[in-house]
Amino acid sequence: MDKCFAMVSGAAKVAGVYGDPVAHSLSPAMHNAAYAALGCDRIYVPFRVAASDLPEAIRAVQALNFLGVNLTVPHKAHGAKLLGNRLSREALALGAVNCVVNRRGELRGDNTDARGLELALRELGAASVSRPVIVIGAGGGAAAAVLACYRLGARRIVIANRTRTRAQRLAKRFPRIRVEVRDLKALRDRALIAGAGLIINATSIGIDGKLFPELAYDAASAECLFYDLIYSREPTAFLKPAAALSLRTADGASMLLHQGALAFQLFNRIEPPVDVMRRALMEKLGRA
Ligand code: NAP
Repeated sequence: MDKCFAMVSGAAKVAGVYGDPVAHSLSPAMHNAAYAALGCDRIYVPFRVAASDLPEAIRAVQALNFLGVNLTVPHKAHGAKLLGNRLSREALALGAVNCVVNRRGELRGDNTDARGLELALRELGAASVSRPVIVIGAGGGAAAAVLACYRLGARRIVIANRTRTRAQRLAKRFPRIRVEVRDLKALRDRALIAGAGLIINATSIGIDGKLFPELAYDAASAECLFYDLIYSREPTAFLKPAAALSLRTADGASMLLHQGALAFQLFNRIEPPVDVMRRALMEKLGRA
C-alpha cells in the first residue's frame, strides 16, 4: 500500500530525484525519514524523467520552486552540460551533476559523490591511503573515486577500464593527480593487486547478474579494502570472491548515505540527521 505523508501541508516544500528508471531509488526513504525526524513540512519525491525531457524538468525546478533535485542515471553528465557556467568547482571537475540546488530561483549544479565516498572511506578506516589504489571503471563514479582517493592522500592511482580511451580522458581531467591507465587485464597482475591498499569497483558490472572479470583476489594483502560503488541486498559480484577469502569488503551503501546527507544539507540548509538517514537506508537494504 502507498504510504501517506500526514505532515505535508498545502505549504509543503518539495525536493526530489530525477532518474530513468527511478523506482528502485533509496533516496526518498533516506530524505523523507530525515524530514519526518525533524518535523519538517517537506517531502522528497522520485520523478521518472526521460533523457530527452531533462532540460524541461530542470526548468521545472525553478517554475515549481523545488528546493532542489538529485540527478541519477542517466542524467548526471547531461545535467552538467545544461547547467553550463552555473556549476560548483566539484561538478566542473567531475563533469557531472548529482544535485541541482535552487537558491531563491537561481539554479546551481553541484556534485556530492566524491565527498560522499571520501566520508564513507574515512568511516571504514581508510583515512589515509598510503598504498596504491586501483579504480575499476572510467565513468562519473570512477571520477568521484579518483578525486576522493586523492583527497585521502593516495599518490598512485591506477584506473583499469574496458575502454582505454575513456580512462585516458578521465585521467586528463585530473592533471595534478598521478594516474596510470590500464585495461581490465591489469586485474590479473598479481604484483599490482598485492601492492594495492584499496580496490574500488566503479563499473556497473554485476548489476545484471553477470560475473566480475578475472581478478587476482588471492594475491591481495590482508589490509586491502575492496569497495564496490554498487550496493544491494546480496553481496555484489565484485565483493563475493573477496568475502569468500575473508578479505575486507564494503559496498556503496555508505557512499549513497553520505552523498545523500550532503545533498540534504545543500537543498534544505539544515544539518542532516545522518543516523536517521542511515537507519532508513539499512532498513531498505534489509540490514537493520
Ligand atoms: P557510467 O558512467 O555509465 O560508467 C560505467 C562504467 O562501467 C564504465 O567504466 C564502463 O566501461 C563500465 N562497464 C559497464 N559494463 C561493463 C562490462 N560489461 N564490462 C566492463 N566494463 C563495463 O556509470 P557511473 O555513473 O560511473 O556508475 C558506475 C556504477 O557506480 C553504477 O553501478 C552506479 O550505480 C554506481 N554508483 C554508485 C553511487 C553510490 O552512491 N553508491 C554513486 C555513483 C555511482 P566502458 O568505459 O568500457 O564502457
